[in-house]
Amino acid sequence: MKVKAIYPGSFDPITYGHIDLIERMSPIFGELVVAIASSSAKSALFSPEERSELAKSCLSHVPGVSVQIQEGLTIDFAQKVGARVILRGLRAVSDFEYESAMANVNKKLAPHIETMIVLTRPEYSYISSRMVKEVAQFGGDVQSLVPADVASALKRKKG
Ligand code: ADP
Repeated sequence: MKVKAIYPGSFDPITYGHIDLIERMSPIFGELVVAIASSSAKSALFSPEERSELAKSCLSHVPGVSVQIQEGLTIDFAQKVGARVILRGLRAVSDFEYESAMANVNKKLAPHIETMIVLTRPEYSYISSRMVKEVAQFGGDVQSLVPADVASALKRKKG
């Protein structure tokens, strides 16, 4: 049976870490929806539409993957699109507390939806969207961290 999964996050912007996880996980699921959070506790550099366009252009080579903007709760979005699995990435021990708290809350709210937490590849485990934005803001070279489209978008934001 083909299982549908969502991969929710801010993706502000999408990085090689996110893309690697999506490339590795998409063959396992029948369909993988990248869910771009429209509201977030973190103040975003890119609008949801910009984040979505960047994700689409960086993922066009991956079969079975689509990108949507998500409003409201992740579990509501999962149910709306008919997904059984919420996919998340774990870079380091520092991610664990937040990820396990969120997985437990989601399990309480929607017991039939499973969160699967996947380890990041070591070579990408230090990449975060926040770090990428900081490097770009000060004119650093981000080409080893994000695809060219994202690097150009960061340059345009910097002005
Ligand atoms: P959020 O704001 O919800 O944490 P992010 O866009 O930062 O969303 O990340 C979305 C998901 O991708 C999270 O599960 C996060 O742990 C994971 N992630 C972030 N950076 C990487 C990376 N470098 N490699 C793999 N997964 C990552």
